[in-house]
Amino acid sequence: MDTGLKGKRAIVCAASKGLGRACAMALAQEGVDVVITARTLATLEETAEEIRRATGVKVTAVAGDISTEAGRAAALAACPEPDILINNAGGPPPGDFRDWDRDTWIAALDANMLAPIFLIKSVVDGMIGRRFGRIVNITSGSVKSPLAILGMSNGARAGLTGFVAGLSRQVARHNVTINNLLPGPFLTDRLRSNARAAADAAGVDVDSMLQERAKASPAGRVGDPAEFGAACVFLCSTYSGYIVGQNLLLDGGAFNSTMG
Ligand code: NAP
Repeated sequence: MDTGLKGKRAIVCAASKGLGRACAMALAQEGVDVVITARTLATLEETAEEIRRATGVKVTAVAGDISTEAGRAAALAACPEPDILINNAGGPPPGDFRDWDRDTWIAALDANMLAPIFLIKSVVDGMIGRRFGRIVNITSGSVKSPLAILGMSNGARAGLTGFVAGLSRQVARHNVTINNLLPGPFLTDRLRSNARAAADAAGVDVDSMLQERAKASPAGRVGDPAEFGAACVFLCSTYSGYIVGQNLLLDGGAFNSTMG
C-alpha cells in the first residue's frame, strides 16, 4: 500500500527509544523527514543516526524536554510546518494519590496533557491552511481501563482524550485528523523497568515476570514496538482522512469487551 507520505515532514516527540522511536522509524521508512526529540542528547543522536542509515531520509535530532515551553519551541524551530505530529512523553510515576501534591500533578499534566495540547495549537492552523495534517497522540490503555496505581496517568491522559474528542471534529473537514493510540504492554525500556521493579518486589527474575505478562495477554505475548509504529503510519497515511477522534487500543485483546 502506498501510504502517500513520501516527502512529508513530521515531528515525533519523545522518540529516542520505545514507542516514539518505533513511530519515527516507521514514518521514515515511508519517506517522511523526521524531527525527533528526547531529553538525552547522546541516545537521541544514536537513534537519529540509526534511522538515517536505515531509511536515507532527513532526520533532525532536537534535544529538550517536551513538557516545557523551551523544549516545544526547539522542536517547532526545527520543523515549523509539520504535516504530521506525533505527541508522546514519558509516563507519570505510579503511586498513591495521597502522596501527590500540586506540583507533582502539574508535572504530569504538563507532560501528558498540556504539552500535546500546546503543540497541537502551534501546528493545527498551518495544517488546516495546507489541507493536510495528521496528529497522533500516544496515550495508554489505562485511558479505557484505569490502573489504580497510575492515577496521574489515568487523569492527565483522560484530560487530553476529552480535549481531542472535541477538537478533532472541528478540524476534520480540512483533512486534518487527530487520533489517539492506546498501548497495552509493549516491549520497551519502560516495560522492562516496570517489570524489573515488579520482579524485585515478588522475588523473581525479570524474564519470568515478562513471561507472566505475556501469558496474561489473549495474544500470548507482549507487543513489538514495530507493530505500534505500523499502526501509527496507517493513521498518518493519506487513506486515513475519515478516521477522526478515535482511540485505537493496541493491547493484544487485553481489554475485554464485546465492542470498542
Ligand atoms: P520508553 O521506552 O521509556 O521511552 C521513552 C522515550 O521518551 C525516551 O526516548 C525518552 O528519552 C523520551 N522522553 C521521556 N520523557 C520526555 C520528555 N519530557 N521530553 C522529551 N522526551 C522524553 O517509554 P515507552 O514505553 O516508549 O512509552 C512511551 C509512552 O507510552 C509513555 O507515556 C508510556 O507511559 C506510554 N505507555 C507505554 C506502554 C508500554 O508498554 N511500553 C504502555 C502504556 C503506555 P529521554 O529520557 O532521554 O527524554
